Amino acid sequence: GRHQEELEGFGFDYNGLHFDQDSFHIFAGLCAVDTRENVARIFAALKEMGISTSRMGAYKPRTNPYSFQGHGKKCLPWLFELAGKYNIRCIAMEVTKESHIEEIRQALEEAGRPTGIMLQIGTRNAQNFELLKAVGQQDEFPVLYKRGMGITIEEALNACEYIASEGNRNIIFCLRGVKTNLGDPHRNLIDFGHVPVIKRLTRLPVCVDPTHSVGIKEWAPDGILDIFHAAAQGIIAGANMILVEFHPRPEEALCDGPQALTLEELPHFVADMALVREAY
Ligand code: PEP
Ligand code: MN
Repeated sequence: GRHQEELEGFGFDYNGLHFDQDSFHIFAGLCAVDTRENVARIFAALKEMGISTSRMGAYKPRTNPYSFQGHGKKCLPWLFELAGKYNIRCIAMEVTKESHIEEIRQALEEAGRPTGIMLQIGTRNAQNFELLKAVGQQDEFPVLYKRGMGITIEEALNACEYIASEGNRNIIFCLRGVKTNLGDPHRNLIDFGHVPVIKRLTRLPVCVDPTHSVGIKEWAPDGILDIFHAAAQGIIAGANMILVEFHPRPEEALCDGPQALTLEELPHFVADMALVREAY
């Protein structure tokens, strides 16, 4: 990482967690909140590993209008209650329109603030400037900005500027792969080579999302999943955060099941990433 003096004054604290270009967090969880039991199982597994950060989608931006769209605000009261029960301090949660921010704020308030939320801007809204301004105009929640799947780094940095210029500088920049027309074996082409580029052009912590880049569960010849490899590559490149999807029963998931890691794979994932981080 950078020299400590260089980083002084940058980065941010949120709900007892620190984020900067040297910090490291794994945000593991469901693509989409489905049942109370599945959420509880994920949170319990994370607690067991000493992890207090997660991801949970309530508002899902789906390609197909007939696909499950997420439980929306209905699930927030019990989701937040469970988060408190399992000591989850921060959940990355996508918002697809401005009113979702207020729904989350209100549900958190009513639940007695048992956890924290990081507002996720998904790849499909990476240039939704009104939404970017809306998350920028509040400073209660940090923002996880995902690079658009088909936009340049310059355009993505301008999108972050939309958030920051409204007042909220607590932003994490997430790489999640880009689309190409080359018939890639993975859902998106991995853009983790850009981790150091973002780190030198900005002071933002950088997240990598191996799940949505790879988009499939395939094993490399060494017996390791492509998703593990992508996460490890992100860490080697200097990532400060890994956003990754798990499901207790991927075959029953209502969204992104084929790419979900299982709870049996969680301890291996965490241990492998710790080893990679130690080595680099
Ligand atoms: C997600 O994180 O569940 C998601 C929809 O990601 P992306 O916006 O990167 O496709
Ligand atoms: Mn997903």
